[in-house]
Amino acid sequence: MIIIMSTKATTTEIDGVVKRLEDRKVGVHMSQGAERTIIGVIGDRELVSRLEIEGMEGVERTVSILQPFKLVSREFHPENTIIDVGGVKIGGEEIVVIAGPCAVENEKQLIESAWIAKTRGAKILRGGAFKPRTSPYSFQGLEEEGLKLLSKAREETGLKVISEVVNPRDVDLVASYVDIIQIGARNMQNFTLLREVGKLDKPVMLKRGMSATIEEWLMAAEYILAEGNHQVMFCERGIRTFETYTRNTMDISAVPLVKRLSHLPVIVDPSHGTGKWSLVSPMSKAAVAAGADGLMIEVHNNPQKALSDGPQSLNDDNFASLMQELVSVIHAIGRTCDFGDFLEKEKGFCCEE
Ligand code: PEP
Ligand code: MN
Repeated sequence: MIIIMSTKATTTEIDGVVKRLEDRKVGVHMSQGAERTIIGVIGDRELVSRLEIEGMEGVERTVSILQPFKLVSREFHPENTIIDVGGVKIGGEEIVVIAGPCAVENEKQLIESAWIAKTRGAKILRGGAFKPRTSPYSFQGLEEEGLKLLSKAREETGLKVISEVVNPRDVDLVASYVDIIQIGARNMQNFTLLREVGKLDKPVMLKRGMSATIEEWLMAAEYILAEGNHQVMFCERGIRTFETYTRNTMDISAVPLVKRLSHLPVIVDPSHGTGKWSLVSPMSKAAVAAGADGLMIEVHNNPQKALSDGPQSLNDDNFASLMQELVSVIHAIGRTCDFGDFLEKEKGFCCEE
């Protein structure tokens, strides 16, 4: 249920409502809009109705949330959630780009890739240290050694870092090194893992399972929020269909749909979404045009030599072109970006507003 306070409600009236709920051990979640305060309530509907909130001073009305996902729903929290990753804001006006290799392979590869990401305007570096590979014989990641290299890259470049956790027992370890925890497609419904990251005070990126419906995806996020961690962003990374030309089918309609159903930010990963580097740029532009709050792009200093996902990774030149071409799409839809000063330096590119 949500309690919509009147635009004229005083702080004392708002506090009074919160106190009445908290005294009965009912969980509340405050949403302070520009116009009014909305109080989200999680708890036994009967008990809440007995508290006669509707009659209290300053309360305009109460509304039940009909969807199965509550904390995640836009009804519960009408304003966009903006996640602050150490000063990098995801879910606001600005389009944020996350870039880096599929896997952390060695120091040279990571640091060179990190500088490509940084120079071309990404704010966050990606790199898998624990890799969920289809084959047990494929490169499985450097584990803690990889996380240490990510920390080193962060120190050198100033980029924030994101990396995946695949096992509940490693959640604290990964969280101690990264700025955003990634839950991969294969673990979207690993409920033990979701509950574990729900206990953290750290942003989480929840990728869509390869066969997950939108509702299953939103319910997976609900597991994390229900544990108390509200800093969750979604990542559309393509779903499995009958089509085999592409690795996955990127579901662009998921972007405006999830933005409508939920207040949480939506990122798009066109690298896994298509599996082909040549499709990454057009699909990135489409994702931004559809309302994505950011992109996650696989970028490698030498894609031909990559230990995983080379065919979908961009090299420096291709990533630079993508970032350059994105600017006009971003401006066309009235959003902003801050890709640094490389664009002005690029020969022949004019950045007139
Ligand atoms: C990844 O981003 O490294 C990854 C493994 O992607 P996904 O979980 O979407 O397959
Ligand atoms: Mn990958």
